[in-house]
Amino acid sequence: MGKAIAMKITILPVKELPLIHAGDDLPVLLAERCALEDGDIVSIASSVYSKAKGYTRKLTDIRPTDRAHRIAKMTGEDPRFLQSILDASKDVILEYPFILSEVNGGHIGVRAGVDQSNIEDNMVILLPPDPMKAADEVRDALKKITGKTIGVIITDTCGRAFRRGQTGNAIGWSGMPAIRDFRGDTDLFGHVLKITEEAVVDEIAGIANFVMGESNNGVPAVVVRGCERWSGHDNLYFNKEEDFIRRALSVRARPKKKE
Ligand code: GDP
Ligand code: MN
Ligand code: MN
Repeated sequence: MGKAIAMKITILPVKELPLIHAGDDLPVLLAERCALEDGDIVSIASSVYSKAKGYTRKLTDIRPTDRAHRIAKMTGEDPRFLQSILDASKDVILEYPFILSEVNGGHIGVRAGVDQSNIEDNMVILLPPDPMKAADEVRDALKKITGKTIGVIITDTCGRAFRRGQTGNAIGWSGMPAIRDFRGDTDLFGHVLKITEEAVVDEIAGIANFVMGESNNGVPAVVVRGCERWSGHDNLYFNKEEDFIRRALSVRARPKKKE
């Protein structure tokens, strides 16, 4: 039998963090509230990382373009909110019934991951512009403060295709490969696995997101302890050519109808 079933994983919410504002030192605030151990994986909600770094915008500062006004007519949303989403988008895949777009780093998210919750009225929280760098930075800072070698995952709550309901996703990670590669392993019957790559960072983000909650729980960070290390790679995002669902969504990619 595989080693994985022997894992006993403990999930520890980081409690009593204050409301986070621009300029707050998140790693210091975290380290004060949990006794980290080597090998821990700290999952942090992107919303609080962004608030600490000031990746937020005031709606009253935003001048919507014609495109934002046009989308607003279809979705009924505030054109300034839509503009903040367009500004955060590298490639817009859908405009309706909601904007679905690729952001820097390769993540594809509904409304580019821009949030209007857990922030003051008339403000939006953007995703960190470089979530991988964000994870590296928090990991390095926690190493300096605590001396412990840990992993960091920056999470966001995301919708998904085909299934109702949102789950936590990893949008940045440091100190671990995103994917555990089972290709080449043999199953219980000796068959060689040809396809299975497990997105472990998303699984950890999922359980962390469950413990965080979405509304007023006030738990933006969760320590996951006891994960055995896995090996694999970091190619979590399909490239455009291999992403056939994205291609199918692209109107431009559809063959023209014959008259
Ligand atoms: P997202 O999933 O990254 O978009 O973040 P959410 O808005 O869903 O928040 C995740 C968790 O962090 C929830 O438990 C929120 O109540 C909590 N949270 C959000 N902002 C803050 C904050 O400034 N301070 C504290 N203590 N908790 C926060
Ligand atoms: Mn979010
Ligand atoms: Mn959330």
